[in-house]
Amino acid sequence: MPELPDIENDRRLLDRQARRKIIRAVEVADDRVLRKLSPAEFRRGTIGRRIVSSRRHGKHLLVGLDKGGWITLHFGMTGALVACKSESELPPFTRLRLELSGGSALCYTDPRRLGHIGLAEDADQFIAAERLGPDALDPRLTLARFRTIVEGARGNAKSVLMDQSRIAGIGNTYGDEILFQARLHPELPIRHLDAAAITRLYRAMRRVLKEAVARGAGSENFVDHLPASYLLRHRQTGGHCPRCGGPIAMLRIGGRAAYYCPRCQPLA
Ligand SMILES: [Zn+2]
Repeated sequence: MPELPDIENDRRLLDRQARRKIIRAVEVADDRVLRKLSPAEFRRGTIGRRIVSSRRHGKHLLVGLDKGGWITLHFGMTGALVACKSESELPPFTRLRLELSGGSALCYTDPRRLGHIGLAEDADQFIAAERLGPDALDPRLTLARFRTIVEGARGNAKSVLMDQSRIAGIGNTYGDEILFQARLHPELPIRHLDAAAITRLYRAMRRVLKEAVARGAGSENFVDHLPASYLLRHRQTGGHCPRCGGPIAMLRIGGRAAYYCPRCQPLA
């Protein structure tokens, strides 16, 4: 599932491929991706407009258009941006293609079709309406602010990290990695974290997300490019902890599989 690092790399792809270009046409291959908007409404809001900026907040990507307004993209479980060419064959599972000036195009692909694309007048209002907490990599999310967020939360560490209304951008996969790097059990009640553990969690969150962006999150075989010390390379039943060599365990939290090392991440 795309999380902050994958979507940050989608944002960079968008900047490289589409920034300063004009949207010449929009091909809607599956209008369900637009939810309440009709393809005609989406075209009216986008065709002839120049892409001037991009912004990511958590798992949302916002594409700024000249004369105001934004295209909003959410990637669901399997969404991604793919660079392609105008009038070429659509990549598999393309739901929407933006045809750009200069003959290039960007395709939004989504096999499982749980993502969606929309339009927003104002980026800040959109983020507020989605009830998103601060982005996990926002420089304004200082350790002090993170501590306030954690101290105000209930529930286990994994659920709190994944709660988009508290901190935006972390999902199941990076949640496991961050907790592994911080040596915290996923079911540890967040209220039991002392100041040192909160600091460890904050630093692991920043380090893991930045590292994943830098190493090409979202690209093929990306996990192989992560440091050997990362849980993600061993995150499966029968896997072994890269730190102690012990077996990786799995439990379910909120219906999702959480992988961890019982030895390195004790509950108490
Ligand atoms: Zn271990």
